[in-house]
Amino acid sequence: MIPRYDLHCHSLASDGLLSPEALVLRAAEKGVGVLALTDHDTTAGLGPARAAAPEGLCVLAGVEISARWGDKELHIVGLGLDVAEPGLVAGLASQRQRRVERAEEMSRRLEKLGIVDALAGVRAYGADSLGRGHFVQFLVERGYAKDNAQVFKRYIGKGCTGYVPGQWMSLAEAVALIRGAGGLAVLAHPGRYKFSNGKLRALLGEFAELGGAGVELAYPNQAAGEAERLARACRELGLAASAGSDFHGPMPWTELGRIKPLPADVEPIWQRLALQLP
Ligand code: AMP
Ligand code: MN
Ligand code: MN
Ligand code: MN
Repeated sequence: MIPRYDLHCHSLASDGLLSPEALVLRAAEKGVGVLALTDHDTTAGLGPARAAAPEGLCVLAGVEISARWGDKELHIVGLGLDVAEPGLVAGLASQRQRRVERAEEMSRRLEKLGIVDALAGVRAYGADSLGRGHFVQFLVERGYAKDNAQVFKRYIGKGCTGYVPGQWMSLAEAVALIRGAGGLAVLAHPGRYKFSNGKLRALLGEFAELGGAGVELAYPNQAAGEAERLARACRELGLAASAGSDFHGPMPWTELGRIKPLPADVEPIWQRLALQLP
């Protein structure tokens, strides 16, 4: 029997709400057989996740790298990584340093709105990789907004006083970093970038050319029919299909292991992952 795969989720090491330990226990309860932990720009949760994984759950080393493509930001998931590979270690450390610098600048800007101590507040959550999700938590806890959507709309989304774009590595660098660590590079949530069909097709072509291995064809809040539309491009370009819950914590729109079936005519990426399983 093919185990149930969930190849995209987050822990407290980045902007997830559960510890790596609680995350793997929940994944096992939900029937997941192979879970890739893909925190933003860090693999710090892997050791604790593996140590706590119950029998029957395989935890795959992953990451979600923020990358720049022209003037756009993309998320590239790496699967089956050697997390001790020096190039990967250095590349992710540099991304996290940029996250700290972004948080410092966001905090300075929020001060102009009378919101003080945001930097100390977001650091206090103790994540290895500091993200905008921590600002969401901080601003909601302090009563400045009621939820994630409101924080992005009022304070930190594009066009807001607290918006600071990330200074990320390029798409080519992200793919090279993942491949250099023996991993498979996957384009995360392709519909989330709001590209035209032509632009998305160009991206997939360039991604395949760079050595990208797959595209997420099942993820939460995906538009109806998108997977079927992208399946053909994937076949033509030799890209496999990945799937993940992008779980950050208990929320109504997603759950660990709750994955829509992939279109029948694509190659599931787990067929290429066998060699990466520990
Ligand atoms: P970061 O990697 O720190 O830039 O944070 C990115 C995270 O913020 C993503 O994982 C999303 O979950 C969340 N996010 C990004 N844009 C929005 C938005 N417009 N509304 C709500 N959440 C968002
Ligand atoms: Mn996130
Ligand atoms: Mn993402
Ligand atoms: Mn994610």
